[in-house]
Order: sequence, then C-alpha cells, then structure tokens
Amino acid sequence: MTLNIGVIGTGAIGREHIRRCSQVLQNARVVALNDIDRRQCEEVAAALQLQAEIYDSAHDLINAPDVQAVLVTSWGPTHEEFVLAAIKAGKAVFCEKPLAVTAQGCMNIVEAEMAGGKKRVQVGFMRPYDSGYRALKQVLESGEIGTPLMLHCAHRNPEVGDSYTTDMAITDTLIHELDVLRWLLNDDYVSAQVIWPRKTRHASSHLKDPQIVLLETAQGTRIDVEIFVNCQYGYDIQCEVVGESGIARLPEPMAVQTRSNAALSVAILTDWKKRFIDAYDVELQAFINNVLADELTGPSAWDGYAAAVAADACVAAQKSGDIVQITMPPRPAFYQ
Ligand code: NAP
Repeated sequence: MTLNIGVIGTGAIGREHIRRCSQVLQNARVVALNDIDRRQCEEVAAALQLQAEIYDSAHDLINAPDVQAVLVTSWGPTHEEFVLAAIKAGKAVFCEKPLAVTAQGCMNIVEAEMAGGKKRVQVGFMRPYDSGYRALKQVLESGEIGTPLMLHCAHRNPEVGDSYTTDMAITDTLIHELDVLRWLLNDDYVSAQVIWPRKTRHASSHLKDPQIVLLETAQGTRIDVEIFVNCQYGYDIQCEVVGESGIARLPEPMAVQTRSNAALSVAILTDWKKRFIDAYDVELQAFINNVLADELTGPSAWDGYAAAVAADACVAAQKSGDIVQITMPPRPAFYQ
C-alpha cells in the first residue's frame, strides 16, 4: 500500500519532508503541493522529479480525492486553519510544530478531533523518535538511576538571524524541550520562571540571549534549560538527568575522534537539520505506517496543546520575571 500525501508549504522543512517522503521512506508518495508562492512548488517538483499536482489553494489540496494524508509545513500562523480543514475532510494530518500559535488554537484542534471521534493529527515533535532520547528514556524507566530529581539541559545554536526575537527562544527553540522532557519524564509542568544571565555581545540589540528557563513538574522534578542561540561554536543539545542513585546523559551524536596537531578532538555539528536527521525519518515513517494501519500513535494534538500551554507560561515569565503557574486541564480519555 502506498499513502498519497499532499504537502502545504514548500519552504525549508517542507522540502526536506518532500524529499524524505519521495526518496527515503517506504510506502509514500507526494501527489500534491501547495505554497503561497506557486513558483516554489514548481521548483521543488522539478528538483525532485515529482509527478505532483500543484494547487493554488491549500483547501483544494486538502479536499482533493487522491490526497489521503496532509503534511502541513507552512508558516506557523496558518497551521490551525489547515489542520482543522484536514480533520473536517476526514484526513490524517502531520503538522509541523507549532500545532497552532496559541494554546486556544491547539484546543480548537483537540476539540475538533475529539468531535470527529478519531485521532487524525500527529505533531512534528521529532525528538521522541531520536535514538538518543529513546535510550535515555529506557534507562529512566529501567529504574537504574532511581527517581529523577533534576534535569540540566541546554539548547544552543551557533547564531540566529536578525528577525529572531526574545520570545522565539521559547516558541521556536524551547518548544522542543517542552515536548520531549514531558515525554521523557511522563509528567506535566506546573510552573515556569525565566532568569537572565549576562547578555552575549553576539546577540542583536533586540534579543536577550542567553536565557535560563526553570521548570517544575507535577511530581516535583526541577528542570533548568539554558537557551543560547548565539553560542558561536555549534548546534548543541544537552540533557542530563540526576536521579536518586545515579546520573544519565543524552548521548552525543556519533562523531569520529581524532588525534592530530597535539589535540584530541571530536567535531560538533553546526546545522540543526543534521542533528535530528534520523529522527525526522523515523517520525515521518511512523506517521505513514500508522495512517496506513489506521491508528495514529505519535505526538498528538494533546501534546501540541500541552507544549503550547507551557510555552505561553514561559513567555509570560519572560515578561514578568515572576514564577508563573502552569495549569493543564485533565487529559481527556480520548488521548490516554
Ligand atoms: P519557511 O522556510 O519559511 O517555509 C514556510 C513555507 O510556507 C514558505 O514557503 C511560505 O511561503 C509558505 N507559506 C506561508 N504561508 C502560507 C500559506 N498561507 N499557504 C501555503 N504556504 C504558505 O519555514 P520553515 O523553516 O520550513 O518552517 C515551517 C514550519 O516548520 C514552521 O512552523 C517551523 O516552526 C516548523 N519547523 C520545524 C522544525 C522541527 O525541527 N520540527 C524545523 C524547522 C521548521 P513564503 O516564503 O512565500 O512566505
């Protein structure tokens, strides 16, 4: 069986996912493309030699009879509209993060999905598909290091463009930690605080960088995440879990160790696309397989909502300097 996919948004990650679905993954083909800029679709179709119909309207793509599943990789503020339309059309939809730009927008999707009586949405949180995070979760669940008490994490990028703003450190960057740490600990957040170290001279005048986000979970685990998006040296994701009887660390990406010029060294990645490249393959293959098996199991609309609720609290904490409470409604049985 082959899943016919329509893709809305042929920018950076859209192109990557189109390449994946048409050249790397099994049992899928891209049959339809849409972008606000039609020329981008034509370029992508030509570059990847795709036999895909190009639609001027995203809604026409969603409703096309031969499109069985929709990939939403357009600009974040468009996601809610397209995901709701896919649910209404009765089609499975993989939506890149954020599911919606507000928690209320995510809740609108949760409610529409529950009203339809069937899970149709997977959110593009790929870290739970990363082999390193999976291995770390296995260690935690084995009980080897005891109950997790503290997590020390870092999300560092070499640099960001001028359009990157202080709140994007939460909504674009920390959002991945907000999802994966909740998954790792099987816990929800109850409070957030943001504290500000000395600012790097490499940040633009309107960006506060670095920042440290302090989170507390319902079970009392304390998490600190350093977000440093102009760290210069590389794209570096760190996660250390301190348990009652030991410590477990996220493995470093595989890299050859060299001894030369009187130095022992291991290269550090600089491009975020390469850090989770395998995880992107695994998450999309899981989506394809699960749609074909008629049972979605990946990061759900509820997970997208939970990340958005926590992100809103972190942005409020950035602005106020206060410890902000995070209140999640009980998880509906539909998402257990
Ligand atoms: P991008 O390069 O700007 O691509 C977005 C594309 O969507 C652009 O081609 C844009 O056209 C198009 N678009 C905007 N509004 C549209 C509309 N109404 N209908 C159809 N197409 C529209 O951005 P990106 O980096 O690919 O990011 C896309 C999404 O993926 C974002 O939500 C981002 O947060 C997410 N993302 C996730 C990851 C991850 O690690 N999971 C990584 C990267 C990005 P114009 O250029 O003409 O505006």
